[in-house]
Amino acid sequence: MERTVKLRVKVDYSTYSALKEVEKEYREVLEDAINYGLSNKTTSFTRIKAGVYKTEREKHKDLPSHYIYTACEDASERLDSFEKLKKRGRSYTEKPSVRRVTIHLDDHLWKFNLDTISISTKRSRILISPTFPKIFWRYYNTEWRIASEARFRLMKGNVVEFYVIFKRDEPKPYEPKAFIPVDLNENSVSVLINSKPLLLETNTKKITLGYEYRRKAITTGKSTKDREVRRKLKRLRERNKKVDIRRKLAKLIVKEAFESRSAIVLEDLPRRTPEHMIKDVKDKQLRLRIYRSAFSSMKNAIIEKAREFGVPVVLVNPSYTSTVCPIHGANIVYQLDGGDAPRVGVCEKGKEKWHRDVVALYNLARRAGDVSPVPLGSKESHDPPTLSGWLRAKSLHSIMNEHKMIEMKV
Ligand SMILES: [Zn+2]
Repeated sequence: MERTVKLRVKVDYSTYSALKEVEKEYREVLEDAINYGLSNKTTSFTRIKAGVYKTEREKHKDLPSHYIYTACEDASERLDSFEKLKKRGRSYTEKPSVRRVTIHLDDHLWKFNLDTISISTKRSRILISPTFPKIFWRYYNTEWRIASEARFRLMKGNVVEFYVIFKRDEPKPYEPKAFIPVDLNENSVSVLINSKPLLLETNTKKITLGYEYRRKAITTGKSTKDREVRRKLKRLRERNKKVDIRRKLAKLIVKEAFESRSAIVLEDLPRRTPEHMIKDVKDKQLRLRIYRSAFSSMKNAIIEKAREFGVPVVLVNPSYTSTVCPIHGANIVYQLDGGDAPRVGVCEKGKEKWHRDVVALYNLARRAGDVSPVPLGSKESHDPPTLSGWLRAKSLHSIMNEHKMIEMKV
């Protein structure tokens, strides 16, 4: 597991120029290495290095030789991801284009010290003195360790962005004592904790549609190359907002699971889902964007956080999870026209009412191997507590307790 921390350092002109020289030559090596990989149909670091090292060493006599290694590594990574894009039909160019260069460093090319970081350049080592952001100390003072590789990039105004990489071993997943099923929807995420369902509003679809509306309002009749338009678009920060929601939600769920030694149960979503899940959105691109942020990105955020804490994740088949009664095994009938409560259905056998998301939660838990009894006909089964202000909550437990207090007052 790794995390990258960015340090921004303003340096003097001579330091910047020394790094600029490295950047220029690194880019040349990188381009040659990519071309070699393409014409020899390989993405292998070893093969690329073997192929270009001698000529590059000749061409760049006073560049520290390890830059040739790291540029070959860089080339191999770029070729690799380009291959993957091409396979998915998502590459727009014939070959990977080298636009921005981030220089890769190995343990010979940089030395870390809390006072100064030294970087090898063509003639000597240069020193930069960063001020460390809070996030740096959070990793530095815990079980994370600084990796031997690092990166830097040159920005405008003599600014160097230096990337320190922290590494940590993944904790071993424990044997789960219980299950926390999580059901993802376009506007909410529901969880089931100790047979208590909880619906957390994320409004992903609403947010995406809202941003789309505002984006249209900004760009209609104008070119997206216009500076003013670009500035306005940038200020929308749609991605930031969604990433923030995802991270916080993943953290709440994973912390809850970790503390109760539970496994998280998620739908193993099929690839074609956006078509029927968000069918009221006509625009195909927009539908895909909603699908990505509400389903796949949310799922990945939870899985990634769970891995960090050693929380086991069980992926189960999602078919019919919201249409079969978890008690009677009979069909649950939802009114086609929706009515007042479009997400509430009735079991054909027991006639009890169910909220679609709660049904899904029980069925997900079942499929993961949970055998605890399902409460019959409780109010929560068809009217689960729905929460919108969870973003600043410390834990799911505190949310549930707070909700109980409100219910008692009412
Ligand atoms: Zn039933």
